[in-house]
Amino acid sequence: MTSGLFVLLSQFGLLGLAVVGLIAWVRDWSRAKAYGWLAAVWLGGLVSSWLRHDAEAAAGYVRLWIAVGLIGLVAAGYGEGVRWLRRRTRATPTVAAASGGFREAELDRYARHIILREIGGPGQKRLKAAKVLVVGAGGLGSPVLLYLAAAGVGVIGVIDDDVVEGSNLQRQVIHTDGRIGMAKVFSAEVAMRALNPFIEVRPYHRRLTGEFAVDLVRDYDLVLDGTDDFDTRYLVNRACVAAGVPLISGAITQWEGQVSLFDPAKGGPCYACVFPVKPAPGLVPTCAEAGVAAPLPGVIGSMMAMEAVKWVTGAGETLAGRLMIHDALYMEARVIGVRKREDCEVCGGRH
Ligand SMILES: [Zn+2]
Repeated sequence: MTSGLFVLLSQFGLLGLAVVGLIAWVRDWSRAKAYGWLAAVWLGGLVSSWLRHDAEAAAGYVRLWIAVGLIGLVAAGYGEGVRWLRRRTRATPTVAAASGGFREAELDRYARHIILREIGGPGQKRLKAAKVLVVGAGGLGSPVLLYLAAAGVGVIGVIDDDVVEGSNLQRQVIHTDGRIGMAKVFSAEVAMRALNPFIEVRPYHRRLTGEFAVDLVRDYDLVLDGTDDFDTRYLVNRACVAAGVPLISGAITQWEGQVSLFDPAKGGPCYACVFPVKPAPGLVPTCAEAGVAAPLPGVIGSMMAMEAVKWVTGAGETLAGRLMIHDALYMEARVIGVRKREDCEVCGGRH
């Protein structure tokens, strides 16, 4: 009678294993519970096989059950190993892991950054430690300043000598109707502080000029230029090259814009390498003369802010050595390679 039971258990125990596995899966058992039940059935099968009267059959079934046990162990080990690896790779970018140096409200604020593998806690700390200067608080400056503030860049300088006018508000979304007449840098400061009280904003209500430009740029890790006059653009480039600070430059007119990151200290071109000849005054119309579509500075300025976040955190590939040209009217974009000119009068001969 008992012998018959052993035969049954040793032979149909495999079916029992499958049934327990299925129930565990369907009922979503905890892994410990499932492992416990599977181990119990397996042990039952092994012992039953061993206790069978027919010695030859017993030996065969014992070997079978040992094989099944080994396969089960390998499968469980593999599953646990994969789970462990997943936990480990996820372990770095958690909000809790970034807590050093951040207040509770900041951890909550930057949570969507911190869970990004490419940024994580270390990247968010780099953003907090970064000092970024933005030249121009107009069309491109608006999204640049808002996104840098939102992203948690620790110190944001902004220089502009203009005041907010009604005709700016079609695209310069950092300003408001109520702040018409206010200096753009102070209007921008109000908006940035309202968006993120955890950052420091340094407004410079003045025009960028020669000597001052180099001294100012030296105080920062990165410069973003979104001005629409060529004198300032070439001046910013010279100051950045002199100070050894990388420059993210953006430009827009009508329906088209372009962005690049110039870092000649790392062997890339400077702005003047790519645009060696300053256009004659009046040759390239300004936004005031030629017009500009309202969302275009939003598109190009956001790309500039994105490049800044990538440069600071080290995520991905920046536009260093590449120029992105965006045609909004036909929604086409091109990225072309740009190179350092050895005879560049701004950065040539320095390296
Ligand atoms: Zn150059």
